[in-house]
Amino acid sequence: AEEAVRNDELVYKFDSRKHEAQWEISLLTQLDRAIDNGEVWVAYQPKLDLTSNRVSGAEALVRWTHPERGPISPDKFIRIAEEFHRIERITRFVINDAVRTAVELRRQGFDMTISVNISAQLLRNPGLPDMIAEILAIYGLPAEMLILEITETDRLDRSSRTFQMLQKLVQSGIRLSIDDFGTGNATIDYLRYVPAAEVKIDKVFIQAMEGNKEDLLLVQSIIEMAHSQDRTVVAEGVETQAALEILRAMQCDAIQGYYVSRPVPFRDLLTQIVGREARQIG
Ligand code: C2E
Ligand code: MG
Ligand code: MG
Ligand code: MG
Repeated sequence: AEEAVRNDELVYKFDSRKHEAQWEISLLTQLDRAIDNGEVWVAYQPKLDLTSNRVSGAEALVRWTHPERGPISPDKFIRIAEEFHRIERITRFVINDAVRTAVELRRQGFDMTISVNISAQLLRNPGLPDMIAEILAIYGLPAEMLILEITETDRLDRSSRTFQMLQKLVQSGIRLSIDDFGTGNATIDYLRYVPAAEVKIDKVFIQAMEGNKEDLLLVQSIIEMAHSQDRTVVAEGVETQAALEILRAMQCDAIQGYYVSRPVPFRDLLTQIVGREARQIG
């Protein structure tokens, strides 16, 4: 009987893996079309500067609203896009939307940076700096307004191709941000070498710190270390007023999170910003 159960399990595992693979392939074949027909779009999450109490920037987060399956998580389809060479196409789409948005915000009088997530794989693509420069030139956005969020890769020494790519991007005036800081494996070493102006503390630490002294101390030391290296610090995943106050007391520079706003379409981002400014004036 035990044998039979195990066989059933095996069959089940095989079936679900097969199912999973089929689902991934069907997603992939639909992804190209989805970009063209507007199912893929870009949401923006404001970044609140804790010193000025103003929205100082926004992060572009890609969205895929499938007509039958509903929203598909970027964690899922970005991984598939990386695996099947679609990441360049998606990133071009996102940067284009983000740069256009930044220009529109400036036209309306808002001096805001715009952040875009760049997958580690794309940093190995030598065409990246030209692709970005081209989009900035088309819309006439100064490179300083664009921030690229990168995640820690395993190793980074000065001779690596990725390091040279990062240098090149920074020389063009673009700023770099280390995303999900604290969850990678090359933390301290990475922080020493990466020419990044900003560090984003991963939301797992922010959400744990309210109830856990250890996490609180960790967040504090990340902030101090980043400041000692002249980098600004952004906390992600801030969901409560209490977290905001703790971070303010620890001199964290800026926050993002549901407490300020969820990622929203551009129109709603504008409402958010205007609403905040109005509340501050009134
Ligand atoms: P990320 O860059 O670390 O983005 C932060 C994620 O946390 C986003 O999830 C955001 O919606 C979510 N978030 C923001 N505030 C809160 C909060 O207060 N509480 C909680 N629980 N979550 C919050 P999302 O949009 O699902 O994106 C997941 C990841 O997918 C991103 O993590 C990023 O790594 C990747 N991603 C998104 N857009 C792109 C893109 O255009 N290109 C690439 N390469 N990756 C992208
Ligand atoms: Mg990010
Ligand atoms: Mg993050
Ligand atoms: Mg992430």
